[in-house]
Amino acid sequence: MSLVDRPITIALDGPAGSGKSTVARAVAERLSLPHIDTGAMYRAVTLKALERGVGALDADGLQSLLDGTDIDLRDGKVFLDGRDVSAEVRGGPVTASVSQVATNGPVREWMVDRQRRLVGERGGVVEGRDIATVVLPQADFKFFLTAAPQERARRRAAELALEGVLVSLEDVLIGIEARDRLDAGREVSPLRVAEGATVIDSTGRSVDDVVDEIVAVTRG
Ligand code: C5P
Repeated sequence: MSLVDRPITIALDGPAGSGKSTVARAVAERLSLPHIDTGAMYRAVTLKALERGVGALDADGLQSLLDGTDIDLRDGKVFLDGRDVSAEVRGGPVTASVSQVATNGPVREWMVDRQRRLVGERGGVVEGRDIATVVLPQADFKFFLTAAPQERARRRAAELALEGVLVSLEDVLIGIEARDRLDAGREVSPLRVAEGATVIDSTGRSVDDVVDEIVAVTRG
């Protein structure tokens, strides 16, 4: 099957605050593809675990929690068992625990299966940490987006300020570096640059500039 016969898949991986979500959303819009935010899915299961009192490292508890769970992405929103949790999953408690929940093998297996089904026949711009390495190693295009930690912290602090949450730059940087360590250091599907991925350092670059580069690569 050639590229013209089926929708394309674009894998976009990178660390927290690298601009992945903003870039992925814009690329998806430009190419009329679905945008699949896999981080939002890990956040949704983390929210459910917090609500049910299941520990972030309780593999068995998380496994049985997932047995009766439905997570969906529609219209730029994330649904947990049919409930729109898009705002809640961005909150402090979920952000503080999600990277621990994401170290659990059974959670990752469940997610990979669900994510592949979501991409299904429609393709999409799929963002996360293990998309090009594990979820879609056959993706048509693979990108690894990164930026200097200080800049990532500045972006994240600015986002939080827009949401009315005032946190010091130093605290945001500490949080981002802690998540980086967990994401890159975990045994199962650590954050890595996939073979064949184009690495884009967005430090000092505008969103439009990065989006243009990705769209240009996909159009050959
Ligand atoms: O992208 P976002 O920051 O919302 O992701 C939240 C967390 O979910 C990440 O820090 C990471 O621990 C986890 N994650 C993951 N694999 C993915 C997407 C997210 O482990 N594909």
